[in-house]
Amino acid sequence: MGGPRNAKRVIVVGAGPVGCTAAAVLARRGVATTILEAQTTLRRERRASTFHPATLDLLDSLGVTPELLKLGLVAPSFAYRDRRSGPVATFHLEWISEFTNHPYRLQCEQFKLCETLIDRFEADPLTDTRFGCRVTAASDHGDHAVVELADGTTLRADFLIAADGAGSAVRKSLALAFDGMTYEDRYLVVSTTHDFGEDFDDLCYVNYISDPAEWLVLLRTLSSWRALFPVAEGESDSEALSEESVQRRLRGVTGRGGRYEVVHRTVYRVHQRVAGSFRRGRVILAGDAAHINNPLGGMGMNGGIHDAVGLGEAIAGVCSGELGDESITRMAEHRRRMAIDYVGRHTHRNAVSLTAPDGALRQAALEQMAATAAEPAAARDYILQASMIKALWSLEEALDEMRPARAAARSSRSPGTESLID
Ligand SMILES: Cc1cc2nc3c(=O)[nH]c(=O)nc-3n(C[C@H](O)[C@H](O)[C@H](O)COP(=O)(O)OP(=O)(O)OC[C@H]3O[C@@H](n4cnc5c(N)ncnc54)[C@H](O)[C@@H]3O)c2cc1C
Repeated sequence: MGGPRNAKRVIVVGAGPVGCTAAAVLARRGVATTILEAQTTLRRERRASTFHPATLDLLDSLGVTPELLKLGLVAPSFAYRDRRSGPVATFHLEWISEFTNHPYRLQCEQFKLCETLIDRFEADPLTDTRFGCRVTAASDHGDHAVVELADGTTLRADFLIAADGAGSAVRKSLALAFDGMTYEDRYLVVSTTHDFGEDFDDLCYVNYISDPAEWLVLLRTLSSWRALFPVAEGESDSEALSEESVQRRLRGVTGRGGRYEVVHRTVYRVHQRVAGSFRRGRVILAGDAAHINNPLGGMGMNGGIHDAVGLGEAIAGVCSGELGDESITRMAEHRRRMAIDYVGRHTHRNAVSLTAPDGALRQAALEQMAATAAEPAAARDYILQASMIKALWSLEEALDEMRPARAAARSSRSPGTESLID
C-alpha cells in the first residue's frame, strides 16, 4: 500500500472509518502511522450504512471500493414517499453517471470499511494499529504533538489526527469549542430481517417517508432492513425500545400483523455541531471529532471520509517536504467550511423537510421534491448535491490549490476516469 517512506510519524486517534481512511492516505504517501484505538477489538456497530458516489470515487483511489462493493448492496435510486399515497419523487443516480464512476449509493455498514483497511494495515509495516489504547489528552508542542494514554504513558509524533468520534477526548483536552445545537427529537432505529420489499411494489433501497402522524426512513442493507422512527415527546427511551413499541411501529409500516424478527434497536439524540477550529498546531481534528450532524441524508461518515482524504493529503505533503505547513491550515479551514456550509446545511434541510411539525411546510417540501424529480436539470443538480459530488468538487479544488501540478494533470484527463488522489 505504501509509497517511499519518509522519517516522519503521525498518530491517528481512533480506528473508525475516518481514522482508518486517514491512515490509508498516509500509508499511500509513505508516512508511518500509529493508530491508537480505545476498544480492544473493532466494534461491529450499526451506524452509517450508506456510502455516497463521491465517497466511493475517493475510496477507489485508495483501492478499497472494489472490496466494499463485494460487502454491500448497490442502491441505484432513492425516493421520497408519502406514507399514505406512496412514491412522490424518485431520483435515479444513473442521471449523474457522467460525473462519477459509481452512480449509485452503496448500502454497506461502516465497520466493513474499517475491517477492510485494518486487514491491509496488518500486512503493511508502515501502519501500526494498537487496540486497547485509550487516549486521555493531547497537546501541541510547536514542532510535535504528544498524546497521553489511560495507562499513564505518553507518545510523541510529528502530527496527530484526532478521529476519536463525537465525544473526542482530544478535542476536549484542547478546550476547543464544539458549538451548535441539539435537536429536540430523538430517533429510534430498528433493524429487522423482515423484507419490506414484499409489502410494497415500488420500494427503493433508500426511502424518506413523510407523514403527519409518524414520518420514517426505510433503508435496506445486505442482511436486514433498517427503519428509523421519531420518538414521541414524553415517550422515554426504554418505552421506545420496548418490544411492544418496536413491534407496533413495524406493524404500522406494513399494515400486517404477526411478529417481526428484530436484530438491533437503539435510540439516539441528534446534534448539529462544529468545532471552533479543526487545527491546534500539530493536532488536527477530523470526522465526528470535528463535526456532527443530523444523520438524515447520510453525510456524517461520508463527510468525515472527505476530511480524512483532504487532511491526510495535506499532512503527508508537509511530512515529505513537498508542501509548506500553511497547506494544513488551509485544508483544515476548507473542511470546516464544508462541514458548516455543505454537510450542516443539507442535513438540516433534510431534517426540516421530513420532520417539521408544521404539515403545510412538510407538504410544500414534498411538492418541491416532486417538481425537482420531474425536471431533468433540477433533478441532476439535486442528486449532485445529495450524493456529495459537489462536495467532492470542492475538495478537488482545495487539493488542486495545494498542488498546482495535480490540477494540470487532472485537466488533461476526462472527468470520471481520473484517480482523485494523485
Ligand atoms: C444510527 C446512525 C446512523 C448513521 N448513518 C449514517 C449514514 O448512513 N451515513 C453517514 O455518512 N453517516 C451516518 N452516521 C454518522 C456516522 O456513523 C459517523 O459520522 C461516523 O461514525 C464518524 O466516523 P469517525 O471515524 O469520525 O468516528 P467514530 O465512528 O465514532 O469512530 C471513533 C473511533 O475512535 C475510538 N475512540 C473514541 N475515543 C477514543 C479515545 N479516547 N482513545 C482512542 N480511541 C478512541 C472509538 O472507539 C471509535 O473506534 C450515522 C450515525 C448513527 C448514530
